[in-house]
Amino acid sequence: MSAGRGRRSAPGGRRGCLPMIIAGIAVALWLVWQFRDRFTPAPPTLTGKVLHIYAIDVGQGDSYLIVTPERKAVLIDAGLAEAGTQVVAFLRRLDIRELDLLIATHPHADHIGGIGYVLEAVKVKNFLDSGQEHTTLTYRRMLEAVKTHVGRLVIAQAGQKFNLDNGIVLAVLGPRQPWLQNVSGSDLNANSIVMRLDYGQFSMLFTGDAEDETEARLLADKAPLNVKVLKVAHHGSRHSTKEPFLRAVKPEVAIISCGATNRYGHPTQATLDRLRRSGATVYRTDVHGDITIATNGSEYVITPARKATTEAVWRGRHPDAAASDAMPERRTEQVQTPS
Ligand SMILES: [Zn+2]
Repeated sequence: MSAGRGRRSAPGGRRGCLPMIIAGIAVALWLVWQFRDRFTPAPPTLTGKVLHIYAIDVGQGDSYLIVTPERKAVLIDAGLAEAGTQVVAFLRRLDIRELDLLIATHPHADHIGGIGYVLEAVKVKNFLDSGQEHTTLTYRRMLEAVKTHVGRLVIAQAGQKFNLDNGIVLAVLGPRQPWLQNVSGSDLNANSIVMRLDYGQFSMLFTGDAEDETEARLLADKAPLNVKVLKVAHHGSRHSTKEPFLRAVKPEVAIISCGATNRYGHPTQATLDRLRRSGATVYRTDVHGDITIATNGSEYVITPARKATTEAVWRGRHPDAAASDAMPERRTEQVQTPS
C-alpha cells in the first residue's frame, strides 16, 4: 500500500510542483524586471576634485553650466526667454549665487533669451559675447541687462584663455577676425563662440550653433579639436558636424541639446548617422533630460536624468514642411524663429 501510494503520489507531486515552479520563475522574472534599475551597477564614484558640467534641458535651445571643484561657475547660453526661470531654478538647486563668467555664444533667441533672467537672479562677474549684433528686441534687452548688471562685456577672440581653478582652462577657439560672411546657413551661427574646456586628461568642446564653414576654418587654423566630449553644434542640424570635423574631434561622447518638440527637425538623421559612424556615444536633452558630466581630470562619468532606448537616441527628427533650420539674418523680432 505504501509503495502504491508512493508510486501514485510521486508523479502527482511532480505535476503539482510544475505550475508552482513556473509561477515561481514568473514571479522572479517579474521582480527582476520591476527592480531592474537596482541591478544596474551604480556609476563609479569619482575620487579627488570633481568638475561638473551640466547640459540643462531647456527644450529647443542651449544652456551649459560648468562648476569647478572650488565652485567657480560658468554658464554658456541660457535658452529661450521661456526657459529663463528654469535655468535660474537649476542654479538655485545647486546653490550657485554667482557666475564667474556668463557667455552668449551668438545672439539668437534660443541661446540668449533666458540671459536677462539669469542676470536678474545671480551676480555675474564677467560677460563674454561674440560681438555680433542682431536686430531683435531680445538682443537689445540682453545688452541693456548686461549694462545694468555687469557693466561691460568682453568680446570673444580666438586665443583668449580663462583659467578657472585646479588647472581647469576654458580656451576660446573662435570666432576670429575677419568674421565669416555669406555662409550657406547663418552668419550669426557661423561666428558662434567655440570653446575648449580642459581638466587633466578630460576635455570638452562647446560649439554653439557652428556651421560647416566654422568647422572648416577651425580645421584650417589647426585648432586643438580632439576632445573626449563634444557639444554637438546647432542642435544636431544637418549643416554642421561634418565628417572632416568629426575625424579631428574624435569624440567619445556627443551631447545634443534640442527640444522634444521642435519644428526644425533637430537633430537630423544625417548628423546622427555621422555621429554613429564616428563611434561616439550620444546623449540628447530631448530624450535624456538634463545630462550631468562629472570628471576628476582622469575619469569621467555621464549621468542622464532619464533613461532612453537605443532606438530613441539614434532616431532623427523631421522638420515641418514650412520650417528651415537656417535662420535668416534680417528677420524682425515679430517673425523670428530661433533655431
Ligand atoms: Zn540655436
